Amino acid sequence: MIIDAHCHFWEEDLISTEFRTVLNNIGQLLDFDPSLLFDASAERLIKEMDEAGIDKTVLLALDGDFVFSSKLNYKEYNNKLAEYLENYPDRFIGFAGIDPRRGKEAIIELERCVSELGCKGVKLWPLTGFYPDDLSYYPFYKRVEELGATVLIHTGAGPPGTYLKYCQPVYVDKIAVDFPKINFIMAHIGDPWTNEAIAVAMKNSNVYIDISGWEPHLKKAPFAFFQTLIEAKMTCGVDKILFGTDWPLFNSFLNLKEYVDGIKNMKLPPPMKMMGFNEFTEEEKNKILGENAKNLLGL
Ligand SMILES: [Zn+2]
Repeated sequence: MIIDAHCHFWEEDLISTEFRTVLNNIGQLLDFDPSLLFDASAERLIKEMDEAGIDKTVLLALDGDFVFSSKLNYKEYNNKLAEYLENYPDRFIGFAGIDPRRGKEAIIELERCVSELGCKGVKLWPLTGFYPDDLSYYPFYKRVEELGATVLIHTGAGPPGTYLKYCQPVYVDKIAVDFPKINFIMAHIGDPWTNEAIAVAMKNSNVYIDISGWEPHLKKAPFAFFQTLIEAKMTCGVDKILFGTDWPLFNSFLNLKEYVDGIKNMKLPPPMKMMGFNEFTEEEKNKILGENAKNLLGL
């Protein structure tokens, strides 16, 4: 089973001017036509998942209300997610977008999203300006734990207009220790703090890493890609590594099919083989591509 553990969605007519600017900035920064990012609808995604052979995708709603004005507020975004889950129950797994700074309201929305809308987790977006391990969010995490939900948390660099300092992987460590029953997925292997992310995943059995957003590395700097993946395998174990794409953001480097095929067919660069590193086995590739996520999400 192939599972994309990190994927976004929005519809062009629902994008706010400010969010469009964010997408434009991403295109400019990474040197591609940003209009390719404007349609991130369920229909387009399902078509591309089918082409890639992806069975299921974790869809993340976003609560960006603290930095971006949006046409949909966070509850409406979660409702949109619920619509997608209802239309494609076998293909999508929903993670609600909720900012823990909302206090009691965050807990009420969490309960609604998990109990009524069928979400399996929550996506946290600290790049909008909060440290995830602030003690004032502990009642929120306590409820996450009680509901048996998973937390996917952005770590590492984000788009222009967002804050980097809150996104260091080390800020996941304390909540992972204090809430051992919650599983945490750290997005993007915390890039550029990959060693830090791998260390947090190594010492905490409930912390995972996803390789979303690493399409440009695989395409343009494969040595760096494999170095990090080998480091992760050797330090925190292959069972902690989840395939993810961050669709549609890096589609112009590798589309879903190209990224899936890139993992299926990965071969270490010759210098790494000369250094004595072993190729990823079929079993390890299958774990990364879906088995690990399947176990983690109890599918
Ligand atoms: Zn993302």
